[in-house]
Amino acid sequence: MPNPSAPSADAKRSITILGSTGSIGCSTIDLIERDRDAYEIEALTCNRNTEIMIAQALKLRPKFVAVCDEAQYAPVKDALAGSGIEVGAGSEAVIEAAARPADWVMAAIVGAAGLKPTLTAVRRGGVVALANKECLVCAGSLMMAEVDEHKATLLPVDSEHNAIFQVLDQDQYDRIDCITLTASGGPFRTLTRAQMAKMTPAQAVAHPNWSMGAKISVDSATMMNKGLEVIEAHHLFPVGPERLKILVHPQSVIHSMVSYVDGSVLAQLGSPDMRIPISYTLGWPSRIVTPSQRLDLAAIGDLTFETPDPERFPCLRLARDALQTGGSAPTLLNAANEVAVEAFLAGRIGFLDIAGVVEDVLNVGEFKALTTLNDVHDVDHEGRRLAKTACERMSRTDRVA
Ligand code: NAD
Ligand code: MG
Repeated sequence: MPNPSAPSADAKRSITILGSTGSIGCSTIDLIERDRDAYEIEALTCNRNTEIMIAQALKLRPKFVAVCDEAQYAPVKDALAGSGIEVGAGSEAVIEAAARPADWVMAAIVGAAGLKPTLTAVRRGGVVALANKECLVCAGSLMMAEVDEHKATLLPVDSEHNAIFQVLDQDQYDRIDCITLTASGGPFRTLTRAQMAKMTPAQAVAHPNWSMGAKISVDSATMMNKGLEVIEAHHLFPVGPERLKILVHPQSVIHSMVSYVDGSVLAQLGSPDMRIPISYTLGWPSRIVTPSQRLDLAAIGDLTFETPDPERFPCLRLARDALQTGGSAPTLLNAANEVAVEAFLAGRIGFLDIAGVVEDVLNVGEFKALTTLNDVHDVDHEGRRLAKTACERMSRTDRVA
């Protein structure tokens, strides 16, 4: 995966953050601000949260900022007038930001919308810190082929994958027994299906351990997040789907583990603070100081573990099935899930309908091989169309009980 030609530790690093206004983007900026002189900022991008991006730009002085929503061009341009910061708008401007020369790019756009910008950064052949797991879910094989072709260095940011990356012996893949992704179980871990059916968007985004964007918080509540992460892990760490396990660990202290054939199990532990995995990718191959709370195991007392329950959390099964089917199935799964989560957050469908929409789309969608990025785009488009129809149907009928 990562190539060994990392930049020298003492060079000033140029940084681009795709999705700078989100949870991961803001945590990345928090780390950068703590060692301001070590970095210069090439570009920042956002969808439409321009207030945050303008404040970030005035503080960090990037060379370029891009806002995806074209209607926001004028206000951003006005706010940054006289600053010397170039402003672009529209999805092409976000891609332009990704194409600019930077030593390190944080790919933290949420959803399949991040695929093109992330790939653009990959094609530059530099270091890409990957938070945007949906990229790998919807186009994993094609993306990893591009990483190889352009000799890019892909560093996983997702806490589980970052943990695995930290403890994986890449020279001994054949000595790995299995990889275990830990899961908090989300806010509805102990609820029955009947109780889950009544859960509101506000309850679903209130994660017990992590502070994250709305989409991933809902994914965590349905446990689709762990399903997406199994697919993500499959592309990052090729050990075979049957050797990728999930273990519910409500305290979120052990972030994942690798079991070797000799019976050794190596794990990475830490407070549930994304600045730790982000810092590992920002400093890589060195470690850098973070303000994260130090782990106090005596204060925590108990670390507990449970087997995941695919009956109450059907998204786990749907994601595994999609991975097993391969080809376009994970792309359809991801597209359907994005549409369903958005509909749930907007109050149009119930919590349990999210899995229902994904299942419907996988039942009617056509599975085929993905050979080009256009194929991915077409399947993503079709998955969204089918999911919107399924959402409309579900919003007209009684919600799943
Ligand atoms: P978020 O919703 O807080 O932020 C998303 C960012 O993407 C924002 O800057 C937004 O402006 C931008 N964006 C959204 N739609 C866009 C579009 N169509 N075009 C261009 N930009 C767009 O999300 P987040 O929680 O920071 O998560 C970002 C990614 O990182 C997701 O893929 C998520 O699964 C992954 N991730 C997040 C966490 C976490 O703790 N937040 C942990 C692991 C992985
Ligand atoms: Mg994760």
